[in-house]
Amino acid sequence: MKKTALHWKILIGMLAGLVGGFVLLQFDYGKQLTYDFIAPVGKIFVNLLKLIAIPLILASLIKGVSDLKDIAKFKTIGLHTIILYITTTIFAISIGLLSVNVLQPGKGISVETVQKLKQTYAGNKKIEKKINVAKEEKSKPILQFLVDMVPDNIFKAMSSNGNMLQVIFFAIFLGITLILIPEHKAAPLKDLFDSLNAAILKMVDLIMLTAPYAVFALISNVIVGTAGDWELLGSLIKYGITVIIGLLIMLLVYMMMVKVFTGKNPFWFIKQLAPAQLLAFSSSSSAATLPVTMERVEEHIGVDQEVSSFVLPVGATVNMDGTSLYQAVAAVFILQVLWPEGLSFSNQLTIILTALLASIGAAAVPGAGMIMLVIVLESLGFPAEKLPVALALIFAIDRPLDMMRTVINITGDATVSTIVAKSVGKLHSPKPKEWDDKLT
Ligand code: ASP
Repeated sequence: MKKTALHWKILIGMLAGLVGGFVLLQFDYGKQLTYDFIAPVGKIFVNLLKLIAIPLILASLIKGVSDLKDIAKFKTIGLHTIILYITTTIFAISIGLLSVNVLQPGKGISVETVQKLKQTYAGNKKIEKKINVAKEEKSKPILQFLVDMVPDNIFKAMSSNGNMLQVIFFAIFLGITLILIPEHKAAPLKDLFDSLNAAILKMVDLIMLTAPYAVFALISNVIVGTAGDWELLGSLIKYGITVIIGLLIMLLVYMMMVKVFTGKNPFWFIKQLAPAQLLAFSSSSSAATLPVTMERVEEHIGVDQEVSSFVLPVGATVNMDGTSLYQAVAAVFILQVLWPEGLSFSNQLTIILTALLASIGAAAVPGAGMIMLVIVLESLGFPAEKLPVALALIFAIDRPLDMMRTVINITGDATVSTIVAKSVGKLHSPKPKEWDDKLT
């Protein structure tokens, strides 16, 4: 009998989670039940994926870079990656600006709605926290991101998933030096990382066997957890649709890029990536999805590890096209409602620049995009006293949009890695392995 493909199982899990969430809301104890028994299942799953992210980056990047045997090739991969990441991000922001200027979602928001949102979220701890984190980020020197990339202690760097760029830096450094030392000296270390890499990829398989159940837990938890915000969703629907239209256009752009630059069928490409996309949607975290994105791109799309091991982890931290598109829409929407006098052409240009920098700096975790939005708004000279209202305005609908922009974030990374691989002759026929081979 033909086995049901994993992405279908995950999809069924998601739908069951959606229905389950609504059913749970019908009971008085539904919320508590979700909190006590369902949310932990999703949390364990996300933790498992995060658990293997750092060892996977370390092992596959050291192995990938050292396998290149030629530093010039690494330079080409690096250059192509940076150019594509910056270009796609600018494209995404421009699409966001175009959608929000054409659809004008801020036009329909009444003063009463603003008042209602203000009351609902006045003094909301989560909003206050986001503003404070953004302030800390802003007070740092511009080149701080380079300083932050270079760890002073690799064990400290590996102790937090927030330090992914530091681990990437160390892995590239070590990978390059392995090319430079005599082969027989490099071999044992390379074998060690190769073996670690294979073991961790198997862990991804094992974890993914539980994905359909985990996404059930994640989605029903989102439904139960955000139930209080729905009343306000109606008034934000036009804004939500504007973001979604922008994200869909971006998806088409990726599909076109895949066709034009690699000659692959874009629908086939999306199908191969689907389990990672569904996971990105359910977890709202590109960092947690990274191990699955890597596996899909390598085994199912055919990108060599030499490319994917570099392009994807870097992308998870610095290339967030969905997030930057969202920031452009959200910033202009907020200006349309709260500060129309700030809607100048030069401010829109500032948004392109700051949203680009902000998406590079945004952490790959749920809700990070909102923090960076504060930085974008401040760079426009947006009145500080209106910031809490600004965030209140988009808070109710942030989670569903976060889920969707995370899908675009990882699709962008996968697209760029496939194109870069093609450009350096490292895109081959995929050799998919079964998730559960040897288990059954
Ligand atoms: N949740 C997004 C990600 O992990 C970041 C964001 O837009 O908030 O890619």
